[in-house]
Amino acid sequence: KTTKMKQSINPYNGKKLFEFNTLTENDLESRLKVSHQRYLEWKETSFEERSRLMHKAAEQLRQNKKRYAEIITLEMGKPISQSLAEVEKCAWVCEYYAEHAEHQLRDEIIETDAASSYVKYQPLGVILAIMPWNYPFWQVFRFAAPNLMAGNVGVLKHASNVMQSAEMIQEVFEKAGFPKGCFQNLILDSEQIKSVIENDIVQAVTLTGSKPAGASVASIAGANIKKTVLELGGSNGLIIFDDADLDQSVTTCVNARFQNTGQSCIAGKRLLVHESVADSFTQKFMDKVKGLKSGNPLDEQTYIGVMAREDLAQELEQQVKASIEMGAKLILGGHRKGTYFEPTILSEVTADMPVFKEETFGPVIGITTFQSDEEAVELSNRSEFGLGVSIFTEDKNRVKELIGKFNEGAVFVNELVKSDPRLPFGGVKISGYGRELSSHGIKEFLNKKTVYIK
Ligand code: NAP
Repeated sequence: KTTKMKQSINPYNGKKLFEFNTLTENDLESRLKVSHQRYLEWKETSFEERSRLMHKAAEQLRQNKKRYAEIITLEMGKPISQSLAEVEKCAWVCEYYAEHAEHQLRDEIIETDAASSYVKYQPLGVILAIMPWNYPFWQVFRFAAPNLMAGNVGVLKHASNVMQSAEMIQEVFEKAGFPKGCFQNLILDSEQIKSVIENDIVQAVTLTGSKPAGASVASIAGANIKKTVLELGGSNGLIIFDDADLDQSVTTCVNARFQNTGQSCIAGKRLLVHESVADSFTQKFMDKVKGLKSGNPLDEQTYIGVMAREDLAQELEQQVKASIEMGAKLILGGHRKGTYFEPTILSEVTADMPVFKEETFGPVIGITTFQSDEEAVELSNRSEFGLGVSIFTEDKNRVKELIGKFNEGAVFVNELVKSDPRLPFGGVKISGYGRELSSHGIKEFLNKKTVYIK
């Protein structure tokens, strides 16, 4: 039976864009069988062949960049210039793994008393990816490119509001020439996920999204002894020390918080500023944020678009209101109209307020001051999340002393936390576990086979 319809609604004007039927249980089963059959052949292909196809996928992305970017923008409201950059970055991750996978996965020789002993990296099979809407292309490509190169095949359960993006990603791989079944988009409801994870064909699951979704998926996978990688929320600190270059850090912090209209897991969400520079930093920061251009996401000049769904904007509004009631001072913005949320700054934020304690997934930032390096580290680590932190200082010795003290998946100095195919990406604490990207990411869903020849 056909279960439900999924709809993409343009969050900028509320218009319905696309409609999809979810898969029936029978269709789902046959799709999974196609993936499994494909895997048996795909795992035998050479790195050369996989690399050739992955380069084609990058070409396909670049040639159709505008079309794909428009779909991203229409479905979730990202300003078009940022959607174009997202598609470009997907081409980069395809090329990165096309060029490096073979080397990353070569046998790893380990000297023992054997005549020969080594680790052989072998694929596992069909991997399920459950992905969010905020970077609808990027999140999927950073999973798909390494896994296809490693000899796994992928099935995708994308967020319900970006199904056309999901369909286009399948198109990219098909048009690039990947055999049918290497990558399939499954149009599913969250309730159908349990049966997919339990299916013997599926070997492992990666999820990028919220803590409740991660906890649910990891429990089901755990009960079935299937590995998971979880990339969950974040509430990164942006720490401005007293010797920071204020102009440069203001520019970087504004991007860190407001790109993608604030809807990024690795956005800097808590500004922690040394009290001796707090006034001048705050003034400069406010001036810069006032200059951000809001508008139609399809307009190339727009920097702040709309939030992906109205319920998300309402949730953010509640977090701001509650924080103000607890004593935070609203110094910029604060208003919401439908899915549009004004860039908003709160000062005098304390660690018990929602904008500090919880993840704020939109264009809102709170400022908290500190007096010493120890206090800055303590405030930063106070968050339950542990995706990353950015610190701003001109003192390289201070940097060396501090890096080890942060309980985070990443520490960036004088730069915003960003993902880069060459570097591992992932969190600690409730931000999740496992790593994506780089040589670490490609090895998450592999059998690291020990070989010992006497
Ligand atoms: P979400 O509600 O958790 O959804 C993410 C995906 O999980 C969607 O495909 C969703 O499907 C599915 N899902 C939701 N509940 C599920 C359940 N109980 N069982 C199985 N699947 C379920 O998150 P979101 O609102 O789309 O995304 C925002 C969150 O993602 C934020 O917390 C953000 O920080 C995090 N994020 C993390 C990273 C990272 O790399 N660490 C990157 C980006 C975003 P439906 O759409 O059908 O509900």
